[in-house]
Amino acid sequence: MYRRTYARIHLGNLKQNIRNAAANVPDACGIVAVVKANAYGHGAVECARAAKQAGACMLAVALAEEAVPLEKIGLPIIIIGRSNHEQLRLALRLGLQPCVFTPDDITFLQELCAEQGGEARIHLKFDTGMCRIGIRSDSELEKCISALNSCSNVKLAGVFTHFANSDAKNKDHAIRQHKKFLHYIGTLRERGFRPAIHADNSAGTIDLPQFSHDMVRFGISMYGYYPSEEVDKDAVPLRPVMEVFAEVSHIKDIARGESVGYGSTFTAQHTTRVATVQIGYGDGYNRLLSNKGKMIVTTDCGSFYAPIIGRVCMDQTMIDVTDVGGVVQAGDLVTVLGRKGDKLISADDIAKLCGTISYEVLLDFNERVPRIYL
Ligand code: PLP
Repeated sequence: MYRRTYARIHLGNLKQNIRNAAANVPDACGIVAVVKANAYGHGAVECARAAKQAGACMLAVALAEEAVPLEKIGLPIIIIGRSNHEQLRLALRLGLQPCVFTPDDITFLQELCAEQGGEARIHLKFDTGMCRIGIRSDSELEKCISALNSCSNVKLAGVFTHFANSDAKNKDHAIRQHKKFLHYIGTLRERGFRPAIHADNSAGTIDLPQFSHDMVRFGISMYGYYPSEEVDKDAVPLRPVMEVFAEVSHIKDIARGESVGYGSTFTAQHTTRVATVQIGYGDGYNRLLSNKGKMIVTTDCGSFYAPIIGRVCMDQTMIDVTDVGGVVQAGDLVTVLGRKGDKLISADDIAKLCGTISYEVLLDFNERVPRIYL
């Protein structure tokens, strides 16, 4: 590592978050560790390994190709997004469990099994109110059942649905979705199928453990964040897994009237001490934080918030350290995301300023920001 801008990933916190989730659902319920999108930016292989150590029963990815580096972990892997034919081919070769919801894909998998040998274990997806992907009616289910009955190498390993609003205080929508899901499960049982059942995401795991069935798909909360402000935070205690630090490259005083950064959007009202920090939108640090966000500067006098002044640049961001106690100098590390002393900048704080959610803030930190695992 040359530039000292990096993320620290606390795998111990990730493991504890999983154990806390497991304590909130019945003992027989397994935790599926959702490690799609490079484990929400935290590093898929390391997080998957830690999740297994904490007792996760399965991994979830969105794309078949995301599973390639995870094969060595040794947990079964579900693909929760729809796979095209090339991805189904890869899924079969790697023994992944794809999400399927059309008779054509079931038939295609049967043909692949005949060609490549082996069997395909699939999860039927039901669209019960998200309107994204999945079986939407009894007749669509009937067609899938017929296909399954005539495709002996395609086994129904599981069935699942996904809640659109389980993170809202009002659970009516989730309850309606779950009722529809139970209806489809009833049909499958009548036809002799006994698949594993899963519906809950993080919000469901926290607030709707009565819908947890055989397993829950635990994503954002594994990384230490609540899916919204409206869930019961006491039910599952969480600790953030990612911290981000960046190095101060330069310090200077500017005079009243001087402006900072592209577009000169900040003008000093008095002599101002400016620290330039080695992180920018090229690292995934959102440009919407310009003149709005803050960082934590730590000196021998303690930790202090320092506001961002001017626009976030591609590689650098300027902060106002005039009121920081103690001495700040080039080479110091500032906290971009995380807790230092009594000061905290969470992904939720950043998300609020950027009009987005913690998921995106965490994911945004890209490969330019090396991950260090603890
Ligand atoms: N299940 C499915 C199908 C998803 O798409 C996602 C996330 O997008 C999850 C589970 C995990 O959701 P969360 O990160 O809110 O726990």
